[in-house]
Amino acid sequence: MKKLVCLLLTLCLATSVLLLACCSTNKMDEASKHANNYCLTCAYDEKTHIVSATQQVQFTNNTDNALCALKFHIYANQYRQDAKTTIVPILYNHVAYPNGESYGSITFDSVLVEGKPVAFVIEGDDLDVLSVPLVEELFPDQTVTVELTYQIQLANVKHRLGYTDNVVNLGNFFPILCQTVNDNFATTPYYNIGDPFVSDVANFDVTLIVKEDYLVATSGNLVSSSSENGYVTYRYTASAVRDFAIVMSNKFKKLSTLAGDTQVNYYYFADTDGEKSLETAKTALEYFNKNVGTYPYATYNVCETDFCYGGMEYPCLSMVTSGSKSYTEAIVHETAHQWFYGLVGNNQIDHAWMDEGLSEYLTYLYLDDMDVVPLSKNILAATKTYTTYVDVLNHYYTDVDRSFRPIDKYKNDNEYVIFTYVKGSLLFDTLYQTMGESKFWQAVSHYYQQMQYKMATPSNLMDSFCKKSNDEIATIFENFIDGKEIIGQIVQNG
Ligand SMILES: [Zn+2]
Repeated sequence: MKKLVCLLLTLCLATSVLLLACCSTNKMDEASKHANNYCLTCAYDEKTHIVSATQQVQFTNNTDNALCALKFHIYANQYRQDAKTTIVPILYNHVAYPNGESYGSITFDSVLVEGKPVAFVIEGDDLDVLSVPLVEELFPDQTVTVELTYQIQLANVKHRLGYTDNVVNLGNFFPILCQTVNDNFATTPYYNIGDPFVSDVANFDVTLIVKEDYLVATSGNLVSSSSENGYVTYRYTASAVRDFAIVMSNKFKKLSTLAGDTQVNYYYFADTDGEKSLETAKTALEYFNKNVGTYPYATYNVCETDFCYGGMEYPCLSMVTSGSKSYTEAIVHETAHQWFYGLVGNNQIDHAWMDEGLSEYLTYLYLDDMDVVPLSKNILAATKTYTTYVDVLNHYYTDVDRSFRPIDKYKNDNEYVIFTYVKGSLLFDTLYQTMGESKFWQAVSHYYQQMQYKMATPSNLMDSFCKKSNDEIATIFENFIDGKEIIGQIVQNG
């Protein structure tokens, strides 16, 4: 009987594991089926630091209106000399540009719609949007193919897109479709604080031609490679990812391991303990697999790179800054973003606290569980940082705004960090302390299951937490969002 029960349980378990696996694949297939398709061929010239590219985009009109034009963000154009918004706040110039001023740009050779040249326009207040007129109106559910041929001049900058003596970062490099909101393209500008990017999941087929001594990490899975005349042609594919990034270097070393069904790679050049960083990436992926839900992609690449902030998240790829104070914290934080930003999207301009606050708090939980830093220590530090900042503001101003705001409404980068990361993590700690560990993880997991491959709103997040606890949880969210939270008491109570 016992054996039979065991056997039945084993069968049940095996079936549910299979069902879960199927479910996760089906969700990805389903998301992929409804996503737009990008096909890029890029060649990198290591002498001129120019990326020459041809990009085909197959776009399906999922709005309820006929469209006359397609709009793309061209973040590569923000690196030009006359940009109104500089790529980093002036205070960061010395970190981002250690070799002095340097500029980049994107120039288009041709834009074709269904094979025919069109008069494209570079528009937007800061020339940050490519508008592609359609030859004929595109009605709901109709598909159009656009082909862009362009060159990107990289700047010598430690940023998402740029080259240094050590690495080449290709983040936010290609023209990416603006998200459609209320039947229009959201042509939001670039901001030099936060991650001002919003994009839906799409499918990618990317070919990269690069000198053979470069090791290359991307957001895709390598499907083929061939060498000729000292150059390698790599082809990568990725289904249902929100963006596609590349980091490459002729100084990279690579370490690999497995976490669940995902191959985890660590690319590094200066990290003196690469094995430890790889192990951190692996254990973080396993930790979030267990507590949040299974990571559905086959590859996860962590890259040590030159960057002027701590790190940067892309689907299936994390940039971690060389010389970081703590590689561990940076790797865990960026890995948490694989779930929150990557798989579950949110508007990072309007509600940056959703992915930054949650990723930061999940990092604290990981560090606590792994006996690296006690949760109480991180929460005490966050509480002191936040309350001190608010105390100083209260000293100088009346009616201090403590609400979560869109990134362009924060006074500066410091205030953005204090609100989205620090106060954001305090919101999730308040939920954790109120609901208890088990219900907290159930809510996070529910949020992930419900919103995977989609764009979540604050209400979606709140609903998952209320569902796993009670409606009073909504008051906690609302108070934090509106700036009516009471945090100082935590310090007084120790
Ligand atoms: Zn982050």
